Amino acid sequence: MTFRLPVVYHPAYRAEMLPGHRFPMEKYRRLAEVLVEAGIVGAEGFHTPDFAEFELITGVHDPVYARQVFDAEVPAAAARRIGLPVTPSVAARARAATAGTLLTARLALERGLACNTAGGSHHAARDYGSGFCIFNDVAVAGRALLNEGMVKQILVVDLDVHQGDGTAFIFEQEPAVFTFSMHGEKNFPVRKARSDLDVELADETGDQAYLEALGAVLPGLLATMRPDLVFYNAGVDPHAADKLGRLALSDQGLAERDAYVIETCLLAGAPVAGVIGGGYDPDPDRLARRHAGLHRAAQAVGARRL
Ligand SMILES: [Zn+2]
Repeated sequence: MTFRLPVVYHPAYRAEMLPGHRFPMEKYRRLAEVLVEAGIVGAEGFHTPDFAEFELITGVHDPVYARQVFDAEVPAAAARRIGLPVTPSVAARARAATAGTLLTARLALERGLACNTAGGSHHAARDYGSGFCIFNDVAVAGRALLNEGMVKQILVVDLDVHQGDGTAFIFEQEPAVFTFSMHGEKNFPVRKARSDLDVELADETGDQAYLEALGAVLPGLLATMRPDLVFYNAGVDPHAADKLGRLALSDQGLAERDAYVIETCLLAGAPVAGVIGGGYDPDPDRLARRHAGLHRAAQAVGARRL
């Protein structure tokens, strides 16, 4: 049977926002449309998560903070750090995206490979949100699967251009989760956390140097850690046209990166759960197409390898 990539989506991924907000909320709905138009998601449709329950979220997050989000009553200073108004719609989005990443991971364990159309909220730490991130979906999903005994060793491959500082903080003392982040050294967050492995790149790092840096570490990590599951944060903000990026990757470079990560993991026997991470292009259509590169690569590699 030919491989069909399981793709997870919930209409709540696009929260209601006041017009003019700098967060590109429209990309989520547009991404779902692009995936259907491109035939990556066919008649079988999307897999739809439920909204994450409180108990799932508090597997990682502080109950007081989680309650504030659920009730859309986050104090003003904490909301400023998040950079989004935590309205009921935005809170619902955070719950749907978190449950979506857990569903993605379960599908990946079943079928070898699956992708969310949101997720990668890697700046969210145990008791606060930051940098547009409210709940750390990858951390919550990983913790739930470890608790259930579904996996024993997890590898987080975070290639968003910003450091996965929240994920690093959350799993600082957890040997069952290895956090690897490759990011721009001059970019947010100013004060970096310590991942299990950080690779820092200079501004204007282009395709070739980027792919070489990745190729120098990923196969060794997979061989050493032998993960039962890889969470892959495929942020597209290393792209040259990204407002926050600074790394000067091309479309081709991002496509090669995604295919390389997925193929290398699958060849090492590790299932891959992909999340989209950050991307900040003012044009929602162009941005959605850029994010769809993850799903395109996953479908192509999955068809070859699974
Ligand atoms: Zn980012």
